[in-house]
Amino acid sequence: MSFAQLGLSPALVKAVAAQKFPTPTPVQEGVIPEVLKGRDVLGIAQTGSGKTAAYALPILDRMQTNRAFRNRYVKTLVLVPTRELALQVGEVFLGFSAHMPISIKTLSVFGGVSINPQMMKLQGTDILVATPGRLLDLVEQKAVHLSEVETLVLDEADKMLNLGFEEEMRQILALLPKKRQNLLFSATLDNKVNAIQETLLREPVIIEI
Ligand code: AMP
Repeated sequence: MSFAQLGLSPALVKAVAAQKFPTPTPVQEGVIPEVLKGRDVLGIAQTGSGKTAAYALPILDRMQTNRAFRNRYVKTLVLVPTRELALQVGEVFLGFSAHMPISIKTLSVFGGVSINPQMMKLQGTDILVATPGRLLDLVEQKAVHLSEVETLVLDEADKMLNLGFEEEMRQILALLPKKRQNLLFSATLDNKVNAIQETLLREPVIIEI
């Protein structure tokens, strides 16, 4: 199976080639076609499985297609539990989008550092990768608009819940447009993750690696 066979457009296939990924990983084979179709996805996959590219590639592809209708508000929100993951995921989006013909702006925001530089960089961000607490701070400061979010990703949802971010996550969900695509990734499907996926996902495709 090749990345082109999964339905990615030539621009994204080129972006993958630039990263020297030879073939899709199993989670990518399962997730990419479903995200391209606009489906909600529950992905049970570990770090190292290639899960980040599994959602980043089709999200970038859809963004390219819908481009004519875009204002410069956040279109994709990726919630992650830690600063390290925020930076890593941001790098993955940047790595692919650098090879695309259209300009897509990705920004990672997280707590533990001063908020002002992040506020100044937010303008025109298409893809925002954020830890929950800092995102809520930025919303409170009116530095970020979530009214045009089309795709929500919860990455490492089990870790986010174990770190006690449930209340913040629920507050953020309440700020998002009702009509949107939801992608949830977790290494495990425990009771807490199951409760979140049941409230969040509409007729999800379940991909377990
Ligand atoms: P992740 O599970 O998203 O943390 O990715 C784990 C690692 O696998 C990262 O270093 C990626 O660059 C790499 N990777 C992702 N997809 C592929 C692929 N299809 N082929 C080879 N390496 C990959």
